[in-house]
Amino acid sequence: MTRARVLILNSALGPLDYRVPHGMAVEPGSIVEAPLGPRRIAGVVWEEDRFPGVESVGDNRLRPLTWVSPAPPLPAPLRRLIEWTADYYMAPAAAVLRMALSSGAALTDQRTVIEYRASGLIPDRLTPQRAQALERIGDFQGVPRELAEKADVSLAVLRGLIKAGALEPVEVEANAPYPAPDPDHQVPQLNEAQQAAADTLTQAIDTGGFHAFLLDGVTGSGKTEVYFEAIARAIRDGRQTLVLLPEIALTEPFLKRFEARFGVAPVAWHSGLRQSERRRAWLAVARGQASVVVGARSALFLPFPNLGLIVVDEAHEISFKQEDGVHYHARDVAVMRGVFEKCPVLLASATPAIETRHQVTLGRYREIRLPSRFGGAQMPEITGIDLLRDPPDRQRWIAPPLVKAMRETLDKGEQALLFLNRRGYAPLTLCRHCGYRFQCPNCTAWMVEHKLTRRLACHHCGHMMPTPRECPECHEEDALVACGPGVERIADEVALLFPQARTAIVTSDTLWSPEKVAEFVAGVENGAIDIIVGTQLVTKGYHFPNLTLVGVIDADLGLEGGDLRAAERCFQQISQVSGRAGRGEKPGRVFLQTRMIDAPVIKALLSGDAERFYATETENRRIAHAPPFGRYAAIIVSSEDAATAADIARRLGKSAPQAEGLHVYGPAPAPLAQLRGRHRHRLLVHASRGLNVQEAIANWLGAADWPASVRVTVDIDPYSF
Ligand code: ADP
Ligand code: ZN
Repeated sequence: MTRARVLILNSALGPLDYRVPHGMAVEPGSIVEAPLGPRRIAGVVWEEDRFPGVESVGDNRLRPLTWVSPAPPLPAPLRRLIEWTADYYMAPAAAVLRMALSSGAALTDQRTVIEYRASGLIPDRLTPQRAQALERIGDFQGVPRELAEKADVSLAVLRGLIKAGALEPVEVEANAPYPAPDPDHQVPQLNEAQQAAADTLTQAIDTGGFHAFLLDGVTGSGKTEVYFEAIARAIRDGRQTLVLLPEIALTEPFLKRFEARFGVAPVAWHSGLRQSERRRAWLAVARGQASVVVGARSALFLPFPNLGLIVVDEAHEISFKQEDGVHYHARDVAVMRGVFEKCPVLLASATPAIETRHQVTLGRYREIRLPSRFGGAQMPEITGIDLLRDPPDRQRWIAPPLVKAMRETLDKGEQALLFLNRRGYAPLTLCRHCGYRFQCPNCTAWMVEHKLTRRLACHHCGHMMPTPRECPECHEEDALVACGPGVERIADEVALLFPQARTAIVTSDTLWSPEKVAEFVAGVENGAIDIIVGTQLVTKGYHFPNLTLVGVIDADLGLEGGDLRAAERCFQQISQVSGRAGRGEKPGRVFLQTRMIDAPVIKALLSGDAERFYATETENRRIAHAPPFGRYAAIIVSSEDAATAADIARRLGKSAPQAEGLHVYGPAPAPLAQLRGRHRHRLLVHASRGLNVQEAIANWLGAADWPASVRVTVDIDPYSF
């Protein structure tokens, strides 16, 4: 090649053409560095016909590429995926490409990373900050920025420690290969249903080509063991596997379980990795050396040259939907990656999304069912507690029937889990004297009290303040009251009711590192914890055989928000948390506290009739032309200035496209009307299935303009509608 079209890592500019200097070998996918104005910028060589709009310039006017990476070129199926993601989600291709190159591994020649660790030397001048840094760093090792973050000190303090010799450099190989998983390490005896499911999958892997599967089986039915067999087949065939999990917190238990089955842990990929770990993982994937990768949604854009299987576990989880930067749904992009890679994709869930079930109905995905729990374990018995008839005492949230069940459980030496999807102590703090309510200055949200850290915090922007003693408005002392419960408050109530019991609070505030997760899991497994009080973090993945009671403090909470997806969300969340009960030999019980005992979704949960729930909910969607029968896109207009945001949203509303099968609702205040100091309005586009909604939106927004202070973002297939 003498000239090359390069997708550069700049979202504002499109691809640009460059000259390939004599002696430099590039091909589509090559990772290069190119001049841009006075600077240099990274990019990837692309096929010319893929971005036909680029203005052509004569060879002699092209600037030459300055560098080509020794890393393998990005494979063609990944390039197609990047294009598809950019088109479908209406994002700049460069922004999607950035996710694929995020480790930085390809952007350097260096084969090693210099990290630092404590040398054991205590510096002569030991300031409190330096002492804090050394204490927090402990055995941790990383590049200076990572150490500064870990120690919560400035980079300057850290550099001072390096200079003083208290931290010493270590060379880390970015090339070090990963040990290979052994498909025959510990092969389980599958039951009949599992064997049939595994056979279907291994056949698909052998045949090759794209197939989408839904592995649909109740909690504890042994889905993981089934897809492990599929992974084993991919390993034997010398193909790579990608497993997507919805949360980092689930990675740790997964790694352990994988290691028990395959002898070594798979390669992990998530935002918590150190820079050197990211580099090593990225390069090992790119060279085809990493055979199984487990990761969060960003792992979708890793450069696998030889992908043979994609698994999306807990495929119904909303955290697969990315809500900032490129708004994409990892479940759907995973299916597209399978299409481009020509390999099978497996979605596993006990509570699939209505959309996924519908794909099965249409015959596009093949369903594999595991009808019952593994090893004869029974599904738990679910009982409703009508809070209107059987309320807890004033300022208490655990109703008498649940207290009784907890007592019985503890008496038998078994464990209980209380679920409330609310972090902190109380969701709202107000002044009894003047009525003042603590609200976030940046968001439409109350400040949530956290007793453990003695702070009020906004769960949307992270704004924090120490819990005050007096009302900032009327200055009355001791007049502040906490309203409603969060998990910390439930834990206080548990301590009053069962002073002997050992309780663990499980939220993202308490399980913020893999070590904390491991500690928690060990605590439950070895019986050091009697009662767990937790948020959605405890609803999935864990398998605790001695946990026999689940109490849902507020089953109606999932119905909040009032959008069309509320019932589905409530059903999934409660089915998942119920699924933690009675997974071993001892039967489980579940109690749902509700004020809406007659709501259809609560009835469905109590009767255990999932099929009827899916049928009614699908019918509701059909009547409303909601997904999967119609489509939505949300346009969010935001500005720091309230009037400007409202004005631009109104003007966009006036110029909204009018077409058969397309309707634009709004503008209306967005679900979070103010977020991080920006005022937000939403226009909701509804379109019938066959319509090219991206094109309609592109034409519409392309003809409009707005001041630079206004941000207009498009969210295709928004989660709430
Ligand atoms: P799911 O993913 O459907 O919730 P799991 O795969 O976690 O279910 O299985 C539930 C429990 O049953 C786990 O402890 C798992 O190790 C065990 N299990 C499942 N299948 C087998 C099997 N074939 N042999 C032995 N144990 C199994
Ligand atoms: Zn806020």
